[in-house]
Amino acid sequence: NKQVIFKNYVVGSPKESDMELTTSKITLKVPEDCNGILLKNLYLSCDPYMRIRMTKHDRPTYVQSFIPGTPIMGYGVSKVLDSRHPNFKVGDFVWGMTGWEEYSLISSPQLFFKIEHTDVPLSYYTGILGMPGMTAYAGFYEIGSPKKGDCVYVSAASGAVGQLVGQLAKLTGCYVVGSAGSKEKVELLKSRFRFDEAFNYKEEADLDAALKRYFPEGIDIYFENVGGKMLDAVLINMKLHGRIPVCGMISQYNLQQPEGVHNLVNLIIKRIRMEGFIVADYYHLYPKYLELILPHIKEGKVSYVEDVAEGIENAPSALIGIYSGRNVGKQLVVVARD
Ligand code: NDP
Repeated sequence: NKQVIFKNYVVGSPKESDMELTTSKITLKVPEDCNGILLKNLYLSCDPYMRIRMTKHDRPTYVQSFIPGTPIMGYGVSKVLDSRHPNFKVGDFVWGMTGWEEYSLISSPQLFFKIEHTDVPLSYYTGILGMPGMTAYAGFYEIGSPKKGDCVYVSAASGAVGQLVGQLAKLTGCYVVGSAGSKEKVELLKSRFRFDEAFNYKEEADLDAALKRYFPEGIDIYFENVGGKMLDAVLINMKLHGRIPVCGMISQYNLQQPEGVHNLVNLIIKRIRMEGFIVADYYHLYPKYLELILPHIKEGKVSYVEDVAEGIENAPSALIGIYSGRNVGKQLVVVARD
């Protein structure tokens, strides 16, 4: 059983050497005294929050730190090889929190979702049909409260969450602008995801001026993925009664001292509602979300771009790549295809 082991707590940017590939023996059966499932892992998801699990935290946070010497854990798509749990049977496909290894014994599989729709790529359950998809849906609709004609801005817009937020906003009849960190990503936003406008934030010396160029009358909804300087520039460009679903702040995750935000007074002046959320609180909406998104995918009204790394050996490199923007679209790792 090839495994990616978390070596030790990380300070600053994560490196490949913070993880190690090892091989161990595993019996491909659920032990008799266990109510769990034995999984063959097919696709592993690389997600920004995993950096937070690589830090040893003094104060409680919303995810637990990884344990040095044990496999990295993350969302994945897997096939059930053996089961002693009433909700799962051999041959089922599932998605949920699994180990970065070829096979995982999950003793409490309550938090796994059974995959009912297999006429779409299974890898989509690491992205648009999994946790990032639900994140875009919950953040945009439940917190963003969008309406037709709203001016929407999305940062990290070509990523797993952002590309979908933009497309949901277009389907709602909004004007949508996205930013991303390369020319290729900006092209993708405009041509593939049909954003109205897009720009490379790395080429903008003055983010405030860039936002004024695209939103001369201001922003109704800012879908926050990056934090830091971008958030500061956005705050002065929000409209009265604007909404900011705070999804993530990836620009801050590797910093020991987070950057200060200077323009928060705009929350008062403009009566802005800024609200953080965690997708796990919204999983009860998953069936409703699937009902909305599956037809859009099948009819080609929503498209989804994945960045696929081949082989579990390449998982550490794929994971660290998302913190420097090397991924184009949803970053995932193929361990096996069936
Ligand atoms: P992405 O697929 O978008 O990958 C991360 C991207 O972030 C990179 O490709 C890069 O794109 C951008 N990035 C990396 N470092 C920086 C930086 N220093 N400054 C600005 N941009 C940077 O990730 P996801 O779509 O999965 O996640 C997007 C955000 O959503 C993250 O903040 C994540 O933590 C959050 N999230 C929150 C959840 C919740 O429950 N609240 C659930 C899931 C995700 P670029 O080239 O454009 O710089």
